[in-house]
Amino acid sequence: MAVIGFIGLGNMGAPMALNLLKAGHQVVGFDITRTVMDALAAAGGRVAGNGAEATRGADIVITMLPAGEHVREVWLHQGGLIESIRTSDAKPLLIDCSTIDVESARVVEQAARDAGFEMLDAPVSGGTTGAAAATLTFMVGGSEAAFARGEPILKAMGKNIVHAGGPGAGQAAKICNNMMLAINMVGVCEGFLLARKLGLDWDRLHRIAAASSGQSWALTSYCPAPGPVPAAPSNKDYAPGFMAALMLKDVKLSQAAAAATGTPTPLGAHAAALYEKLVAAGQGGRDFSAIFAWLAEQKRDTLG
Ligand code: NAD
Repeated sequence: MAVIGFIGLGNMGAPMALNLLKAGHQVVGFDITRTVMDALAAAGGRVAGNGAEATRGADIVITMLPAGEHVREVWLHQGGLIESIRTSDAKPLLIDCSTIDVESARVVEQAARDAGFEMLDAPVSGGTTGAAAATLTFMVGGSEAAFARGEPILKAMGKNIVHAGGPGAGQAAKICNNMMLAINMVGVCEGFLLARKLGLDWDRLHRIAAASSGQSWALTSYCPAPGPVPAAPSNKDYAPGFMAALMLKDVKLSQAAAAATGTPTPLGAHAAALYEKLVAAGQGGRDFSAIFAWLAEQKRDTLG
């Protein structure tokens, strides 16, 4: 069993760390928001006073942070983790599970390699329910050797562990996935809004579409219209889940990558513009499926 330093214990990181404990690993956690460490401590994990302390004696160091700037800050900048583990005798495997830009992932991996460490980018899909149930999909970038080392640990938190390719490939897969999710989510919202205007019952539409060609994860697991999927954020006043601000970050990453590679992604661009409006309306802290309630208040002649 491994000693695991875990930094970033938010909506995703906390349940992931609990599953590592359940699998018998020792977990030493750190988060700048002190209250989120309580669940880890209550479940038998150790709580560190800072990131460097969480890495001491670790076989594996995992980060689960909001965005690229946090990942660069924590790994590379003043008091950065790479600097603090460089001096230790152990050679922990480093794993970043956050969703970030490919460039940041490659910069951090290169710095880790220069310091003599193996590092994986291993973003996830499956949301907070997947994190709690240890059924996440991990899309992993890094060398074959690093992947072989990391896979048994990731299996304690997920069901599908896929080696996507070299450094940064996990992030590339993730931003493509989330661009599809953003587009799908807006599509499901439009279907349910139109259904209501046409006098259709949402539960019945859900039963039909879930078994028809309109089916998607956004529909079956995360329906944005309240009612059909009891566990979905739409039935908890859109408490996250996956915050709209994070979805905006991801769909913007996809658009930056599309621009850099000359890829036509008109629906991705449209979804990004809609999420920009949702966040500008002060709803970035709500679940990303709150786009349904926001869209319901808009006028057709302003949005098309
Ligand atoms: P979150 O905001 O709930 O958690 C992030 C945590 O990182 C917070 O607790 C914050 O205090 C902590 N943090 C920030 N800076 C820190 C620092 N310097 N040192 C230590 N801790 C720090 O976000 P989340 O929903 O858990 O998402 C984390 C990542 O996973 C994001 O990149 C997100 O895009 C991705 N993701 C989220 C979901 C989801 O459904 N929530 C699904 C898949 C992927």
